[in-house]
Amino acid sequence: MKKVFVNGYGTIGSRIAKFIKDDSDIALVGIGKHSPDEKVLHAINDGFSVYVPGDKIDNFRDYDVSGSIESILDDCDLVIDASPGGKGFLNKKNIYEPKGIKAIFQGGETIFNNNAVADVLFNSRVNYADVFDKKYVMQGSCNVTGMGRILNPLREKYSNKLTRFDVTLIRRWADLEQTDKEIVDTIEMTEQPHHGTDVKAYFGKDAPLFVRAIKVPTRQMHLHIMDIRFSENAPAINEIHELFKDEHGVAVLWTAKGTKDIRDFAESTKFNFKDTNMLHIHANMTTSIGDTIQLMYSDDQTGIVIPENYMLLQAMLFQRDYQDALKQTEKLFNMDEKKKLLEENFSKKD
Ligand code: NAD
Repeated sequence: MKKVFVNGYGTIGSRIAKFIKDDSDIALVGIGKHSPDEKVLHAINDGFSVYVPGDKIDNFRDYDVSGSIESILDDCDLVIDASPGGKGFLNKKNIYEPKGIKAIFQGGETIFNNNAVADVLFNSRVNYADVFDKKYVMQGSCNVTGMGRILNPLREKYSNKLTRFDVTLIRRWADLEQTDKEIVDTIEMTEQPHHGTDVKAYFGKDAPLFVRAIKVPTRQMHLHIMDIRFSENAPAINEIHELFKDEHGVAVLWTAKGTKDIRDFAESTKFNFKDTNMLHIHANMTTSIGDTIQLMYSDDQTGIVIPENYMLLQAMLFQRDYQDALKQTEKLFNMDEKKKLLEENFSKKD
């Protein structure tokens, strides 16, 4: 059985740990906590062994921790790093590389410049099999994962009829759990957003993709506004929606008034963490005008990358066939069921 460790137990790490512990092919040997707060107890109560940095172990004497992160990693096959952006690079240099352990990094890192954590950026819908033999891989961020999941089916169907993609990312200010993070009443501009460059890491640096980003005071998901240009008249909107009918992790909704409607539905239906783990095309907003499709979809920022991390783990540890990996992911995340429930609840009313 392969041994996996999750280093960092915040928004992303706690979700990953809770889902992957149910995979009978792996042993989740523990989670890494870096601050001595009540979440240590939550993790222990949830059945996780908690490990802490060796040089901070004294700060955790009030808790029943199992040892140091450095020691547990000696007996591990893969670490999922879920540390704050930029710390993953330091962890790689200080711990993972010296120990020769495989590692997955999150979207707050980079694959460019001197701080690169890997030479490949993962999107299961695009380059699943390319990471089979990799030691270090970066999972794309929530926005980057979302764009790949929309663009890849379009590129497969329309290939050279597509001439240009213009995307405006409307990013959430904070996550639901970040109750101590103040939401500021402003619309913040993001200079030189990394998201387009990250997507081009798997679509090619010359892909005609142009991305702008702003941040708005909400905790309820990101919204992407995308204009898709064709070299001829754009397809009818039904054809675009049909393309995503069987697409894993994309729901087509007609009557959601906003992102909070979707979160509220996820909460009332008892989806774990109030996450849908997917994208939601707001089908009532799609238009086909001349050579352009205007598309809007919301992106569950905290949820979308969790099944992606699990797909990546399966590729790196087991080189599992893509369809088998999807089936295995379905067992843990029930995404098809969630998609069905969402689409029924927000269906077109005649
Ligand atoms: P977070 O702040 O909620 O959690 C990070 C956790 O890591 C904290 O518990 C912190 O104590 C711990 N930590 C501190 N130093 C550490 C170290 N050196 N090594 C390991 N852990 C350490 O952050 P998050 O939102 O979970 O983000 C984690 C990563 O996931 C970032 O790269 C982020 O960009 C990416 N990401 C976040 C979201 C999101 O919606 N929050 C979505 C996609 C990707």
